[in-house]
Amino acid sequence: MKKTLAFNWKMNPKKLDDVYGLAEASDAAHVIIFPPFIFLEEAKKVLHQAALGAQDLFWKNAEEDGSAYTGEVSGEELKNLGVTHVIVGHSERRRKLGETDAIVARKLKTAMEAGLTPILCVGETQEEKDLGKKEEVLRTQLEISLSLAVTGGLLKKRELYVAYEPVWAIGTGIPETPEDAAATLIFIRDFLDEHYTIKPHLLYGGSVDSKNIKNYIQLEAVDGALIGGASLKKEEIKAIVAIAQQLN
Ligand code: PEP
Repeated sequence: MKKTLAFNWKMNPKKLDDVYGLAEASDAAHVIIFPPFIFLEEAKKVLHQAALGAQDLFWKNAEEDGSAYTGEVSGEELKNLGVTHVIVGHSERRRKLGETDAIVARKLKTAMEAGLTPILCVGETQEEKDLGKKEEVLRTQLEISLSLAVTGGLLKKRELYVAYEPVWAIGTGIPETPEDAAATLIFIRDFLDEHYTIKPHLLYGGSVDSKNIKNYIQLEAVDGALIGGASLKKEEIKAIVAIAQQLN
C-alpha cells in the first residue's frame, strides 16, 4: 500500500500570502493537506497532485429540521468546494472544545453521507496510558465514533482512515516509538476487522518530522502519518515528501 501523508495546518498560516508556498511544497501524490476553512479554496488553486482536506465539519449537512447553525460548515459545502477528506475527532477538538465521541459519530456519518473520506483520530492521554487503559480507551472511541455509520450501512461502502494519535505525543516533540505505534495500529486493525469487517488505512500521528518519519512509514502496519507542526515548514515538508516518495 502507498504511504499517505496528511498535513494538518491547524490555525495556520496567519495570512493568505503564506498559503501558496506551503501548498506548493506539499503538492505530491499521496499527500492530503488540511488548511483552515478560510484558505481551502485558494490552496486548491495550486494543487495538481495532492488532495484537499478540511480539519473539521459540522454534524449535519443541511438545516433540514428548521434549525439554523450560525458559523458552521457542512460536509456538502466542503464537497462542493473540491474537498475530498475531512479530519474528525482530532484530540484538540475533543480535549479543548468539548467534542464527545457522540459528536464525532455524527460528524463521521455526515462526512460519509456527503461523500467525504473521514480521517478519524483516536488516542489516549498520558494518564490513561499510565493507568493501562489505552486499549479500553481506543475501543470505546472506535465503537462510539463508528456507531452511526454502522447503523446506516455507510461504513462498509465508504473509504476510511483511522489515525492513532496519542494525545501526549501531539506537538510535544515526544513521539510514540515506531514499534509501539505499529503495535497499536495492529490492535486497531484487528479490532476493526473482527467487529466490523472493514480495513481502513491506518496512520500514526504525534511529533512526526523529517528526522523520524522513515522509522514509522517503513513499517508494514503503518500506512502513513498525520503531521502537524512539521507540515508548516517548507524545508521539512520537502524532506518528508521525498522520504515518503522513496518508499512509494
Ligand atoms: C496533529 O496535529 O495531529 C499532530 C500530529 O501534530 P504534531 O505533528 O505537531 O504532533
